[in-house]
Amino acid sequence: MNEIEQSLQYNFNNKHLLTEALTHSSISKDKNYEKLEFLGDSIINYFTTTYLLKKYPKDKESTLSIKRAQIVNQKKLCLLSKSLKLYNFIKIGKKITISERIHCDIFESLIGAIYTDSDINQVTEVLDFIFKKKIKLDNLTEHYDYKGLLISLYKKNKVTNFNIATHLNKEFNLFICQLTFNNLVFYGFAKNKKISEKKCSEFCYKQIESNL
Ligand code: MN
Repeated sequence: MNEIEQSLQYNFNNKHLLTEALTHSSISKDKNYEKLEFLGDSIINYFTTTYLLKKYPKDKESTLSIKRAQIVNQKKLCLLSKSLKLYNFIKIGKKITISERIHCDIFESLIGAIYTDSDINQVTEVLDFIFKKKIKLDNLTEHYDYKGLLISLYKKNKVTNFNIATHLNKEFNLFICQLTFNNLVFYGFAKNKKISEKKCSEFCYKQIESNL
């Protein structure tokens, strides 16, 4: 087993797949990681979905989907990729800097390659191992963009009205946020404008969640 197989705890039967999973399109136009990445992307989504369903049997679908989005995103997968030091093994044109996107892509492509090399049970084992070691499940919903979520619900016509207005109360030196959502009014306050809106949006979402 070489170094990368060691950190993934998986031994490839077909080493060509491993090479392909780590080859950027700047090196090869047809034997690169793009299709394996495409496949790996949906395997990670599928795995994360079943993982969260098992971990949080009482969560509603909307909460689970927030949690999934907190795990399956470019930033998180890039960190995962870096922590496994996958960048040490990538074959890429000398002038290209390895972006967050590329870090994320090679993690996805390796997952796609493991699945292609074996089966869903094997790839589940590998992901289970990585997740247990690297993914902190606490605070998954803490830093979520609830304001964005409320706006998208409004855009999807799920609610009749949405308005958010924040002003500084000089007497208390606090930003007060007033949020109207579906004819309900919510308030939040903090020393910082962004935080007051964040708190208010999160509170609002948690109140209305069960009616969505
Ligand atoms: Mn990708």
